[in-house]
Amino acid sequence: MGVEYIFTSCRTALSPSGLPGLNYSLNPYTGCEHGCAYCYSPSVLKDRIIAGSWGKTVRVKRDIAEVLNREVNRKDIGVVGLSTVTDPYQPIEKTLELTRKCIEILSRHDFPVSIQTKSDLVLRDSDLIVPKKFDVGVTITTVNPELACLLEPRASPPDARAQVLESFSSRGVDTWIFLGPIIPETNDDDENLRKIVAIAAKTKSKILYDKLNLKQWVMERLGPVLENLKPGLAERVLTILSRGYDYRNKISSKITSICREMGVRCEAAFGS
Ligand code: SF4
Repeated sequence: MGVEYIFTSCRTALSPSGLPGLNYSLNPYTGCEHGCAYCYSPSVLKDRIIAGSWGKTVRVKRDIAEVLNREVNRKDIGVVGLSTVTDPYQPIEKTLELTRKCIEILSRHDFPVSIQTKSDLVLRDSDLIVPKKFDVGVTITTVNPELACLLEPRASPPDARAQVLESFSSRGVDTWIFLGPIIPETNDDDENLRKIVAIAAKTKSKILYDKLNLKQWVMERLGPVLENLKPGLAERVLTILSRGYDYRNKISSKITSICREMGVRCEAAFGS
């Protein structure tokens, strides 16, 4: 089944952000074609149409660059997170170039930009993404391409994401890895975590790690994927996470210790 695009206009481009290190967020798209099984954006967006067909319906803010062009002249300069709810480099961006137009405007007006993506399409904009003005974060949950395909069906494969980090890091752009969500008995094994930290070490990237967020609609989509991997896994994940603090502590000390060993900076995202 293809993706349905709904073209809309927007009233604002830059929204205030309460996320650490960001002053504003900018999301050219509502909904995300990457369709990750664990994504909790549907609960953040509170958009029933998009949530009910996550990955299959995307609202496109077709005039976001024009709106942004007006806003940058009247808003205080601050760090813009792009994007905070959906992926700014999802497949439709290849054709529409809304993200590209927005970062061009932000850069021209000296707004620092923090990009987070799971797509190597970000490399297309390497001419704009320069040191000091930009940082680039790439989410890597697993180095196993088959598992990535199940969890993040239409995102770039893990090795392509690692290449994004290598490319920007080699040109002096600050890079980071978002290692999350960490799902019990799925991607929390030593081998996987070590390989991801090794990518961070090689590319001088910082690691932000995060737990699985069991927000509304997450298990409806993730549960069947986990069951498909190992029968009974969905139930076990819920049981392990219900112990909350124990599991988070265990994972946190494991990652911290591997990062220390490999000389990588790391911290828990959102105080997880
Ligand atoms: S790339 Fe991010 S926003 Fe898009 S589906 Fe995956 S987790 Fe959600």
